[in-house]
Amino acid sequence: MRILLVEDDAMLGDALGCSLAQEGFTVDRVSTAEDAGLSLGTVDYTLILLDLGLPDQGGLEFLAEQRAAGNPIPVIILTARDAVADRIAGLDSGADDYLVKPFDPDELAARIRALHRRQVGRFSPVIEHGPLVLNPATRELSCHGVRVSLTAREYAVLATLMERPGALLSRSTIEERLYGWGEEIESNAVEVHIHNLRKKLGPGIIRTVRGVGYMLEEPP
Ligand code: CA
Repeated sequence: MRILLVEDDAMLGDALGCSLAQEGFTVDRVSTAEDAGLSLGTVDYTLILLDLGLPDQGGLEFLAEQRAAGNPIPVIILTARDAVADRIAGLDSGADDYLVKPFDPDELAARIRALHRRQVGRFSPVIEHGPLVLNPATRELSCHGVRVSLTAREYAVLATLMERPGALLSRSTIEERLYGWGEEIESNAVEVHIHNLRKKLGPGIIRTVRGVGYMLEEPP
């Protein structure tokens, strides 16, 4: 899951980026509304974390513009403003949720997961597909009831596929979910992760559509 963090406080932004990365999210941080707008044009983000006090434009105004332009991306506002009126204005400008600084990063991670569930229309906190059961909160996977241990990247690849079980995803789409700016992508990284996942999960789980990408096999 790739997240755009719009936060001009570098220390807070870096700390938040680190704690979210440890939770398995890929995070890109920008400091201005202008850069946020540009980033949204180039990367297909799952969600925005939006500070309200930005140097070039108010976060609420930025959000209202995005909604007016028809952008449906889920938005969580992060701000020190704890007045009730600001919270109401945030939600009424199109935000989906609201956290007042300082907040616990674990709570933010849980809210991100909850918002993402609603976005994809999933009610259960775990994702099931055939023999696979994935818990995004603990990042635990079982296959045929047996716990399977995954690396962080393998988890991210499988979670990307399980979030959209009927979809055929290209290598570049998967790469985009996995790697933030400035992270070096080895040319065959996705193939290697898929290969290792197949070794751990067995055959009949991940299908390769040659020259196009990957998808989960339909459960029998
Ligand atoms: Ca700020």
